[in-house]
Amino acid sequence: MKEILEVITSGDAQAGDVAELQLPQSFRAIVLRKCEVDMFAEMSSADKDPRKSLHLVEVPVPELGPGEALVAVMASSVNYNSVWSSIFEPLPTFGFLERYGRTSELAKRHDLPYHIIGSDLAGVVLRTGPGVNSWKPGDEVVAHCLSVELESSDGHNDTMLDPEQRIWGFETNFGGLAEIALVKSNQLMPKPDHLSWEEAASPGLVNSTAYRQLVSRNGAGMKQGDNVLIWGASGGLGSYATQFALAGGANPICVISSPRKADICRAMGAEAIIDRNGEGYKFWKNEHEQDPLEWKRFGKRIRELTRGEDVDIVFEHPGRETFGASVYVTRKGGTIVTCASTSGYNHEYDNRYLWMSLKRIIGSHFANYREAWEANRLIAKGKIHPTLSKVYSLEETGQAAFDVHRNLHQGKVGVLCLAPEEGLGVRDEEMRAKHIDAINRFR
Ligand code: NAP
Repeated sequence: MKEILEVITSGDAQAGDVAELQLPQSFRAIVLRKCEVDMFAEMSSADKDPRKSLHLVEVPVPELGPGEALVAVMASSVNYNSVWSSIFEPLPTFGFLERYGRTSELAKRHDLPYHIIGSDLAGVVLRTGPGVNSWKPGDEVVAHCLSVELESSDGHNDTMLDPEQRIWGFETNFGGLAEIALVKSNQLMPKPDHLSWEEAASPGLVNSTAYRQLVSRNGAGMKQGDNVLIWGASGGLGSYATQFALAGGANPICVISSPRKADICRAMGAEAIIDRNGEGYKFWKNEHEQDPLEWKRFGKRIRELTRGEDVDIVFEHPGRETFGASVYVTRKGGTIVTCASTSGYNHEYDNRYLWMSLKRIIGSHFANYREAWEANRLIAKGKIHPTLSKVYSLEETGQAAFDVHRNLHQGKVGVLCLAPEEGLGVRDEEMRAKHIDAINRFR
């Protein structure tokens, strides 16, 4: 690993140099263990502790197949799916690996007693498999997390519809929280030159998801002037949704839970901000019954911030706790677009407010390669910026996941994998200087 790192950090690694490097037999990776999936049985979600289930261990380098690449991972990030994986909810991820393993001889590699998790990376291509022509050893890349087989016609209009669609590092093995990762070559995208490794690794999953969910015609298809209600507006997804709304001429109404998070939204350029804690919304009277008066109070507050207008789009992901309110406050003909259910996936809402007002609920999930590429291109052009707030070492990944689980973070948290320190990997200092304030506004 030392030699690989030396060549990469020299900053001018040529294809030849990297291709000639000898691959190590093994590398360090953050894993879950199959034998531990019951370790939190009987505990409430809130008490499950990712620091106990995530382990840093030495694992063998996987065999490289056709259409794949091995990447030296300089940095990765923690996503909420790393939290779900580490608390074994809603299901242990080993079931995904077993099912994948049954699909082909090559896919069997993924079905192991350990799961290397992580769905983001920034790094350098070490090796490419047969049939890979667009990428070569030495290329500095980021990877999006859509893994598809594309053998069925179903996925050829929109690769997210492929029946063998998986989230890399969640439903596949060999993810990004490791020193070496295995990806399909059609996950690779150029690393933005003006960003450090950890900055470049942080947007991938959430930026692409927010792009499809809010901007793409596969999602809400946001247009200029739209009022967009964004839950968790300074969190992983929300910090990108807020930026897309502002960059696309829409009006974000940012919901957050603390003054510090309100400041972050203001720093991004948002003006309409609702502190859900400060204003004390309680959409559920008890576990079974919602409070429509609270939906109304919330809607009234939104109108105060929009000069009497309702929202065209709700950017939903908290799920059960907020969904009733989201459906209620959407304007006639408006859209609720959802990609998650953090607080519970059995949603309840009053359907009269949906059908009588001709509203639509759209389901959205990650992004296809094109959407991920567009989202990454906006980062590379300095139109959208990473929202990295804190960086951990690979050894501290459990703590990073713990902080995200407890909602102690802002934006994204990064993890250094091979990168020995923060700030390395910047190739365009001029462009960086132009955007440095925006890059640092979550720090
Ligand atoms: P995150 O960084 O934790 O941010 C989510 C934010 O939502 C929190 O910071 C919090 O902000 C707000 N929130 C949480 N619980 C809430 C509640 N009960 N009511 C109102 N607001 C609440 O997580 P993320 O990366 O944005 O991911 C959010 C969810 O989306 C997760 O469940 C994740 O698994 C899912 N996701 C799905 C996809 C997909 O492709 N389908 C992709 C990415 C993420 P405040 O405390 O400031 O309000």
